[in-house]
Amino acid sequence: MKYEDIYKHSINDPEGFWAQEAKRIDWHQPFTQTLDYSKPPFANWFVGGKTNLCHNAVDRWAASHGDNTALIAISTETADGTPAEKTWTFKELQAEVERTAAMMSELGVGKGDIVLIYMPMIAEASFAMLACARIGAIHSVVFGGFASNSLATRIDDARPKLIVSSDAGSRGGKPVPYKPLLDEAIHLADHKPEHVLLIDRGLVPMNLVAGRDVDYASLRAKHINTKVPVTWLASDDISYILYTSGTTGKPKGVQRDVGGYAVALASSMETIFCGKPGETYFATSDIGWVVGHSYIVYGPLIAGMATIMYEGTPLRPDASIWWQIVEKYKVTRMFSAPTAVRVLKKQPPEMMKKYDVSSLKALYLAGEPLDETTSAWIAEELGVSIIDNYWQTETGWPVLSIAKGIEDKPTRLGSPGIPMPGYKIKLLNEATGELCGSNEKGVVVIEGPLPPGFMQTIFGDDERYIKTYWSNFKTEQVYSTFDWGIRDDDGYYFILGRTDDVINVAGHRLGTREIEESISSHPNVSEVAVVGVEDKLKGQVAVAFVIPKLAETTLSAEARHQLEKEVFAIVDKQLGPVARPARVHCVTLLPKTRSGKLLRRSIQAICEGRDPGDLTTIEDPGSLVQIREALKP
Ligand code: ATP
Ligand code: MG
Repeated sequence: MKYEDIYKHSINDPEGFWAQEAKRIDWHQPFTQTLDYSKPPFANWFVGGKTNLCHNAVDRWAASHGDNTALIAISTETADGTPAEKTWTFKELQAEVERTAAMMSELGVGKGDIVLIYMPMIAEASFAMLACARIGAIHSVVFGGFASNSLATRIDDARPKLIVSSDAGSRGGKPVPYKPLLDEAIHLADHKPEHVLLIDRGLVPMNLVAGRDVDYASLRAKHINTKVPVTWLASDDISYILYTSGTTGKPKGVQRDVGGYAVALASSMETIFCGKPGETYFATSDIGWVVGHSYIVYGPLIAGMATIMYEGTPLRPDASIWWQIVEKYKVTRMFSAPTAVRVLKKQPPEMMKKYDVSSLKALYLAGEPLDETTSAWIAEELGVSIIDNYWQTETGWPVLSIAKGIEDKPTRLGSPGIPMPGYKIKLLNEATGELCGSNEKGVVVIEGPLPPGFMQTIFGDDERYIKTYWSNFKTEQVYSTFDWGIRDDDGYYFILGRTDDVINVAGHRLGTREIEESISSHPNVSEVAVVGVEDKLKGQVAVAFVIPKLAETTLSAEARHQLEKEVFAIVDKQLGPVARPARVHCVTLLPKTRSGKLLRRSIQAICEGRDPGDLTTIEDPGSLVQIREALKP
């Protein structure tokens, strides 16, 4: 089958297409209506059907391939960075998930109750997620790196009955206590959970609050042999709530269903990721992000693959650790982020060559624009296809990519690809709402009905969902991604940045991404952020902050000046003088979210002398100090 045929089928006959795709999963009760779209923009998939994510991810495989490896937990957060590893077969995983489900039931958790999971990347985190799915509880995983304030706002929004957490995470071999942050968050929040289930990793001492806190190991011991059957759920029951990264402000509680999500994952695991039962999948993300939900926990398991949960950095014990894992577990498909690849690119070149990575068939990258230099470098080093894929927490699975499982279409450097089946994408002129032609810039929008797996709504706030995502054009009701893009003559899309990152220089609309892409082609630039800054004369000018590749901290004033001149020349040549930044500042660190996304809005605010806004998701506040320093005359 050809991509074009399948894609067209998915758009012209979404119900027929998805009814077919739905056969990839087990249904306890078949659905009677493929799609209910009587209340647009709310799309309700597989009405009347009953299924369960945990059944499809675990039980189904435990029954047919019980001794296959399901979960591999690897931590390099050990004393000297030597990996600590443990694996579970599907049968073992099933038993463990049943124990965890029994523990939750004993703590009063049942169908429809919310369980907040605030955990490091340890196996128990995925047991907890799968246990919730098993009994129909709704999980809300909050990234373990978040501090009390961010956690408290999420506790108040999700109102969990139970919180599952642990004494500590670990970073660079040093424990990062969680329990004090969690206690503080519960103190700050108006809502109080009934219980907190705590895994004691023995990293830091914990004080248990009597009556509220429960020790995981003791409760688990009571349920070693407890069996907990799957609770069959309606297709549109809620599986989870996940808050967006908060790059552009207040995080939104993305709510997802059960049946549609299971089908979308089963489908994308084959069409995009070419996942085969018995093979090993390695996503380096965190369960706190959507990639962790879709392609660490649920997706690979639904496809019958072994999935790797990795706790640690890409650099410990040294920068070859990921390739060591690929060799040892014969990883066939790997998923990471451009940020991580840029980190590896700065390491000694021999680190890329220490292990045999011939099992690897493709590396998928997402989360941020993938610049051509980074993409070409990693493709050359690994000798495999690099598959960019564009999506959002909201979408749940890739919107743009190359469906290698359908047809081996070529990738195009700088482009995340073409629309995936089910996504009716187009570009609209931001001001007029008119349809853009080829090579014309516009806002990336998706026409309803949105495919299965997409968010159902913003948790508890249908109105905010419609207002935020569906009300940006007067001409028609479409889902806005808030990303700015362009499509070439062959239908390949390019993402030019977020709509609020677009710069207007003397009437010319420029995406920050275009300028960043151009600057990052300079051989001595390792990372770059471009923002638009108010200017009396031109309206806005671009200002660039670059991390030079060599001599990161010690560039002389002269060398910096030289670099600036060269950057001007590159931008002039590639995009024209109108895109030339007014200034190029050198820094050693850029402000990013915990998930590695540039906080351009905060940089812009500082450049304009404004307050940088909500910074709860920032990775290292020291980066803002550098921006301020760099701006000093
Ligand atoms: P918030 O919505 O709270 O501001 P966020 O948008 O950073 O947070 P995510 O849902 O994790 O949270 O990120 C999705 C966004 O990341 C996309 O809208 C897009 O801007 C960017 N993105 C993701 N993948 C790609 C890609 N392959 N190429 C370019 N940009 C990408
Ligand atoms: Mg977003």
